[in-house]
Amino acid sequence: MLKRILLVDDEAAMLTALQRALRSSEYEVMVASSGQEALDILTVSEIQVVVSDVRMPEMTGDELMTQIKNLYPDVVGILLTGYAELNAVIRVLNNGAVFRFLEKPWEQAALIDCLQDAVVHWQERQQVNDQHTYLENHTHALLETDADNRTIYANQKACELLQLSGEIDGVAVTELLPMLRPEQLQYLCSGEARQLEVQDRANEQMLRVSVRELHSQRRMFSIEQLYEQDTLAIPELLSRQELLYQLDRLLRSSDIPVTAIYLDINGFRRFNDSLGYQQADQLLALVADKLLKGRPESACLGRMSGDEFALFLAGEFSMAQVCEQLERMLEPFSNLIDFAGRELHVAFRVGYAQSPDDGTDAGELLRNAQVSANTASRGGRRNVVRYQNQMNANDSEFVSLQSDLYRSLERDQLFVLYQPKVSMPDGRIAGAEALLRWEHGTKGIISPAVFIPMAEENGLIEPIGDWVLAATSAQKRIWEAQQLPDFVLSVNLSGRQLEDDGLLQRVSDLIQQNSLHASQIELEITETFLMQDISHSLELLRALKALGVRLAIDDFGTGYSSLNYLNQLPVDTLKIDRSFVMNLGINREAFELVKKIIHMSHDMGKQVVAEGVETREQLDILTDLKCDEIQGFFFSPPVSADNFRELLENQPLISLETSSQQDIWVPA
Ligand code: C2E
Ligand code: CA
Ligand code: CA
Repeated sequence: MLKRILLVDDEAAMLTALQRALRSSEYEVMVASSGQEALDILTVSEIQVVVSDVRMPEMTGDELMTQIKNLYPDVVGILLTGYAELNAVIRVLNNGAVFRFLEKPWEQAALIDCLQDAVVHWQERQQVNDQHTYLENHTHALLETDADNRTIYANQKACELLQLSGEIDGVAVTELLPMLRPEQLQYLCSGEARQLEVQDRANEQMLRVSVRELHSQRRMFSIEQLYEQDTLAIPELLSRQELLYQLDRLLRSSDIPVTAIYLDINGFRRFNDSLGYQQADQLLALVADKLLKGRPESACLGRMSGDEFALFLAGEFSMAQVCEQLERMLEPFSNLIDFAGRELHVAFRVGYAQSPDDGTDAGELLRNAQVSANTASRGGRRNVVRYQNQMNANDSEFVSLQSDLYRSLERDQLFVLYQPKVSMPDGRIAGAEALLRWEHGTKGIISPAVFIPMAEENGLIEPIGDWVLAATSAQKRIWEAQQLPDFVLSVNLSGRQLEDDGLLQRVSDLIQQNSLHASQIELEITETFLMQDISHSLELLRALKALGVRLAIDDFGTGYSSLNYLNQLPVDTLKIDRSFVMNLGINREAFELVKKIIHMSHDMGKQVVAEGVETREQLDILTDLKCDEIQGFFFSPPVSADNFRELLENQPLISLETSSQQDIWVPA
């Protein structure tokens, strides 16, 4: 088959670039410089795929695609788009006029992949069309299977006969559809789309079969055998297709609002890496099972793709009600999960959308729920997000910030501040935590709480993390050369850096190059990361420890630590999270918890640092509890390297004889 592609763009340079990209491909390429010209070409040439720019004068790409869909429903459309036009693109994606979109600047490989998929999509459409026409043209009984025997098409006559007599032209149902029990054929004729679980007699396996109405007037049905991996072999878990179908039906059948919820497992990539695909799939099955058991009674749950699930339920819910439902459903994940001899922590990013405000058809509603789930991760703390129309606009702002971040390194916009950790009770500086800052060209200083999650998502955390390690090691060397008092320098490591195989070597090289004492370097790793997969963490921590560096657990108390594990982890320090310190002297639980953490750590021979100490009262309580080191605004905010040097030269930061009077050290 000749594969003919039509490229549409008003900019000649873009057309040339696209043509060049496709020169050595198997496609015959035609070009048009406007929407109208493209439509003219389509009237005379058989084209399989149209690739169009969105922004064009007169007729925009999305308008063109809508026209093409009406005139030539088989032609597959791809849009090239910048983020500014994303709203228009989402609209045409949702109404099916466009198969996919590529963001500009597109990459050669992505373009070729996308075209290949588009051609396959075109072929699939042809097959379905052929089936439709074929079935429509036959008034006598007819059953057909597709090439790989996964889908069976039946016309109405066949259904009737099968149901009546159990045979067609003398051939028994059991022979034609060995996987179906005769009574299950009722589903065929009732026109209901259903999932059935049936016994495959040939190899005694359980199969899942989906019965779908292809055309309501002519009553044609398809029976599709779903492969196991489609659904993790869990009967009640719907496939993506099925979920969309069911949701659409619900939306069409009544005016009751429908809430669609999207769940995306955090950092599943990591489980794939550490468990291998087969086990990771089993983990997904376990997750699906727990979700199914905990879901609201009336909700349908499906797997949207790899590690993404979605569910929907009829009714309008407030944010609080959605959260309440979710809390119940996700309750089993608040503890570590026993899996294949490991203990894992599975967390989700969750977003939801409600009809009719956030979308009126299944595709749109789920897409918007997905968009909000993606946003949930970016904010960091917020876990459940409802779709808002301005989300796509936020997206574009987010994207521009993201592309600025790409340049932050070469533009030299990153710098590090240092915050002292003061040892108690002598008031000397025992350590410093390096805290990264980004001085954006126009937006001023951006908090790491904003850009670190972003960098983790797009992979920039690796070069940025490397830069922090290099910059702080070099600074430490300078301080050592100046013969300032010794202290331990702590650097934060993100989960993604820790998964990078080259990390150990780089840390070890930096220590060598700067002739540092490894024991003067501490790496801070968050508790949430460590507790995700404890046996994996153990391996990693042991390898880091072998370099001689110190290790600290950051944000301690916020994660899912089972205290039993703490003993096994080769860490030197626990950092009590600021949220507990904040409540010292305010509520009793915080006090008891902090007390317990400190005692327990000391029993295990570990040091304790309290973060975010702001008041004298907090300091006094912590000193009473024998907390080893204090970090927080009470002594000093994070300061520049020069100011930190001054702090080093002016120790101790507080004189303890007068500690009950107010002699707070005020930063220069
Ligand atoms: P973190 O590791 O928990 O760092 C402690 C945060 O608490 C810092 O926020 C610090 O400025 C702030 N802080 C310290 N004392 C007080 C206090 O008394 N009161 C209050 N309200 N805040 C206090 P910062 O610098 O905004 O950093 C936020 C987070 O960004 C850090 O949390 C860390 O997770 C991440 N981060 C910062 N630098 C790096 C880095 O170089 N690499 C990585 N991977 N993450 C970093
Ligand atoms: Ca930290
Ligand atoms: Ca912390």
